Order: sequence, then structure tokens, then C-alpha cells
Amino acid sequence: MKVLFVASEVAPFAKTGGLADVAGSLPGELKNLGIDISVIMPLYGKIDIKKHGIRSTRKKITAQVRDNMVTADIYKSDTVNNVTTYFIKNDDYYDREQLYGTPDGDYPDNCERFTFFNRAVLEFCKAFKYNPDVIHINDWQASLIPVYLKTTYKDDPALTGVATLMTVHNLAYQGLFWAYDMPILNLGWDLFHHKYLEFYNNINFLKGGIVFSDVITTVSAKYSKEIQTAEFGCGLEGVLADRKDDLHGVLNGVDYSVWNPSTDDLIAQKFNFKNDKGKAACKKDLQKIYDLPQKTNLPLIGIISRLADQKGFDLIAEAIDNIAALDLQMVVLGTGEQKYHDMFEAFARKYPEKIGVKIAYDNTIAHKIEAGSDFFLMPSRYEPCGLNQIYSLKYGAVPIVRATGGLDDTIKNINLKTRAGNGIKFTKYDSNELLKAIKKALTIYGNKKAFRALRKEVMKIDFSWSRSAKKYINLYKNAMKKTTV
Ligand code: ADP
Repeated sequence: MKVLFVASEVAPFAKTGGLADVAGSLPGELKNLGIDISVIMPLYGKIDIKKHGIRSTRKKITAQVRDNMVTADIYKSDTVNNVTTYFIKNDDYYDREQLYGTPDGDYPDNCERFTFFNRAVLEFCKAFKYNPDVIHINDWQASLIPVYLKTTYKDDPALTGVATLMTVHNLAYQGLFWAYDMPILNLGWDLFHHKYLEFYNNINFLKGGIVFSDVITTVSAKYSKEIQTAEFGCGLEGVLADRKDDLHGVLNGVDYSVWNPSTDDLIAQKFNFKNDKGKAACKKDLQKIYDLPQKTNLPLIGIISRLADQKGFDLIAEAIDNIAALDLQMVVLGTGEQKYHDMFEAFARKYPEKIGVKIAYDNTIAHKIEAGSDFFLMPSRYEPCGLNQIYSLKYGAVPIVRATGGLDDTIKNINLKTRAGNGIKFTKYDSNELLKAIKKALTIYGNKKAFRALRKEVMKIDFSWSRSAKKYINLYKNAMKKTTV
């Protein structure tokens, strides 16, 4: 079976969030299981070509945007993830400081940038005679591919019969553009219809993917159900419910060659569940980086996150004085909306002995937080899968989470009597509930021997890709059956 995996970000080349981690690890696992798979993404200016052994194929492709034919060079790398990654190089579109926009907002030409990406992927298939059985698309940035396959390219002999599987990593990001951008897509106004791309008078890329893909997945079973409700559906709950027979939840896995304290070169001292002594050195190192008192007996809570409304930081804002009154320390690493930058920096100024904040995107510090924290906090309003809580388990940072989406699927609440469970979970979106959960964490921490035993147990839990990768292969087969019916 031949698959082309299309993503707008792939680790380690370019990353803003969990999509990149998935795109950087799932294809390798699928290849190990015998799938002939390559990855394709834009060549952003910030990608380090030399470091990743990326080179030109000396071939160009041309794709239509508006009434123009636009050219891109195709680059490739075979050195990362054990999989060939192709890159679409068009500097006007992709040689920018960021991937999608700045803290002030999205790039105003994102409709054109990603329309081109979608068409360029299809033109790549033709020019390189790639002939996939399945194109696996991810998120709104690739969601026009199934639309083009079923319209513009439907009679193109090079692309007929190609099946599509779409993975929605976060329904809230839909690729919404005003109606006047329709000519950029070159699809015809008949597609600007509420059954297809139109969404409250806007173009909605993600909706196009949901309507036209053969199979749809999202990244946890719970989230696949949640998004069919008005509370989590972001206005697309009806469209998703219409396709519920083709909608599946497949939990993300982890690349333990990257997120593993027994092999991690980015942390102060390696450790594992058999020998967790290095964890203390990692905690000390983290306290030093964050300029916090090096107290070994205080529980340390870590946060690594995009700073967006989704992540539940308004609960922390409401409870911060009560949280800071407890015997604990907290470190935060994140970037995103300015209001959260200001908020966390104000907390750090007010409680310099207890709260350390870095407004930055920094992979090394992210690893150090996993390694040095006793607990990891994710009070998300919603969370499609969440990866950090899964990484935290491996690093022995016991997750404190809100029971939503993938957080609910991966974390089982600790029973104080039986000690069963792998984290602390609260259900109601309420700052008192959050505070109670943190207090429960401190109680658990207070019994040093029991806490250490718990920590060793959670470090053993395995969320590697193999099970989920097999599910994807079965769903690829389902998608292929649909195109042959
Ligand atoms: P989301 O995809 O919603 O951002 P996930 O938990 O699925 O959330 O994945 C987040 C990924 O991005 C993790 O690998 C996390 O370590 C990383 N990450 C998020 N913010 C930062 C940051 N400021 N610095 C370094 N890594 C970050």
C-alpha cells in the first residue's frame, strides 16, 4: 500500500504544536509496518536545510492559484524519521519568520498560501508519478486536497481512484476566509454552498475536508464523540454527525526515541523507572533555569503550552492567589496570545519565589520541564488528544488534567486509598475544582514513599504508536474500498 502523508508541520523540521509531533513519528511507524509512505510539507524559510540534509530534486512543479500558474521547486530529505520527506519550495509563500502568522494575527494571504500547497501536492503526485493509494491529509491546511480530487482532478487518469483519509487534530482551527477569496481556489462558485465549503458566508477549508474525504479520523475516541455536539463542534457538529459512520477516534502515540528520559540528551541526568535518581538532578537544573529556590522537598508543577484560550489558563488566573499560597513551585513555558504572556509574567513578578515563567518556544527547556517536574498541569477547556500529559507519564511528572478529550482517555484518576490510576483528574470547568486537584496532588506528594512508587508506575506506561498505527492501516483499507465502490 502506498501512502502520501500531507502535513503543514512536521517535527523536527518545523513545529508549532502536536501535529508536528504526529507527522514526525506516525509515518515512520507505518513504514515499519510495511507501508510505502512519504511525507510532504512546505519548505518554510526557518527550516535548517543543511542540518536536515534537505536538497533539491532539481524538479519543479506548477500549480494553479487564481488564474496564475505558480511554480515551486521540490526538495527532499531522507535523513530524518526513516522516511522520505518532500518539501514544496516557494519563497513568496513560505519564506517567512513563522508558519501561519505572528502574535498579531494570521498572515493575510494564508488562503492563497495553502491553496497553493494543496494543489502543489496533487501536481507533485503527477510530476513525480507518485501514484498513492491513499493521501492522508492533516488539518485545514491540507483539506482542499479531497475537494480537488473529487472535482477538478476527478477525470485526471493520474489521480483517479486515489482514496483520502483526513485527520482532524483540532477542530477549532478551520481555515476560514472571506467569500471574495473563492477565485483563488479556482473551484467554481457552485462549491460555495452550505453542503460543501460555505460556512456562515465564509470559505471553510476544514469543512471541505470533512465533506469530501473518504474516511475521517480525530486524535482520541472521546474527542471524536465530543465534536458531534454543539459544545465542542465549533459549528461543524452537524457536518460531522452526518459523517459519523466514517468518523473514527485514533489516539496519538509517542515517539519514545525523542521523548524518553533514559536516552534524552537534553536533560541534566538520564533516568528511568528502574533508576529514578537522575530525576532529582533534573529538578535542581530546572529550578536553576527558572531562578527558583533549589528546594528539593517542594512539589514542582510544570506547564508547557501554546498560550491559547483552549488550554484553560483562565482557571489558573482565577485561582492563582490560592495556588501561590500552597507549598509548591510552578514553571511555565509557552507562547501564544499576548494576554496570556502578560498574565503569566505578572504572576512571576508577584510570586518570584514560587512561579517561574518563560515566554518562549524552546524544545530543550520543554524536555527539561518534563524531566524536572513532579506534576504536569493541563487544565484544558478542550483537548483533542494532548501529547504533553503522555510525555509526562514517561518522565514521571504526574499529570493533573481536566477530563476532556484525549486527557480523559489517557489519564485515570488516582484513588487515594487503592493508589490505582495514573494522574489527577477534575471534571467541571471550574477554578475551585482545579485548586482541589492541585491540593490532592500535594497530598499524594506528601507521602514520599508512596509518591515515588506511583511515579515509577506511571513511567512504565506505554503509549507507543504501534497499536494506533495498525488502526490507521485498517482505515486506509476502508478508504480504498470506498473509492472502488
Ligand atoms: P497542541 O497541539 O494543542 O499545541 P499538544 O499537547 O498536542 O498540544 O502538543 C504540544 C507540543 O508542542 C508538545 O510537543 C509540546 O512540548 C510542544 N510545545 C508547546 N509549546 C511549546 C513551547 N513554548 N516550547 C517548546 N515546545 C512547546
